[in-house]
Amino acid sequence: MSQILDEVIDANNKYAADFDKADLPMPPGRQFAILTCMDARLDPAKYAGLAEGDAHVIRNAGGRASDDAIRSLVISYKLLGTREWFVIHHTDCGMETFTSEIMSDLLSKSLKTASVDADGWHDCCAGGGSAEGQHIAWLTISNLEQSVRDDVERIKSHPLVPADIPVYGYIYDVKSGKLIEVPETAKKSGCCN
Ligand SMILES: [Zn+2]
Repeated sequence: MSQILDEVIDANNKYAADFDKADLPMPPGRQFAILTCMDARLDPAKYAGLAEGDAHVIRNAGGRASDDAIRSLVISYKLLGTREWFVIHHTDCGMETFTSEIMSDLLSKSLKTASVDADGWHDCCAGGGSAEGQHIAWLTISNLEQSVRDDVERIKSHPLVPADIPVYGYIYDVKSGKLIEVPETAKKSGCCN
């Protein structure tokens, strides 16, 4: 077994040993959802004070409002009763470090892990790449506040999203652990007026 696999199974055995959440209902008890980045430094349960059963957390690279993120949010509201949503991007996001062109170019040459330095991203090896990367919208970020505004706007204006769901736009600061509001999203969120 791999060391990581060992560690995960060990940790799970400890978690399950005194497990007391068997009676939680499926719908989130606090009726809200968070869309955020998969970045390993972000722990939504900690930065937003969640316990098991509290809220939906939808994560992808960048915390972007992709079609699949919107699919999850629509299910979250329509079938599982969430009433308020957060879009939370973060400082120092990896999605700011490349463009779709750079990503598809790297993948076209090699599928192996690339490296980054002051001059940008570099493939380690040549051969075995694929042009398929050109057909994926990588949803990279060039301006952090704008990406939050764009995603809040995309969610708010989506035909499957009811107009009365507040969608709050925030940036998580990886240096302080704080959530910082993105100003223009507040008045569009539908909250508190
Ligand atoms: Zn990120």
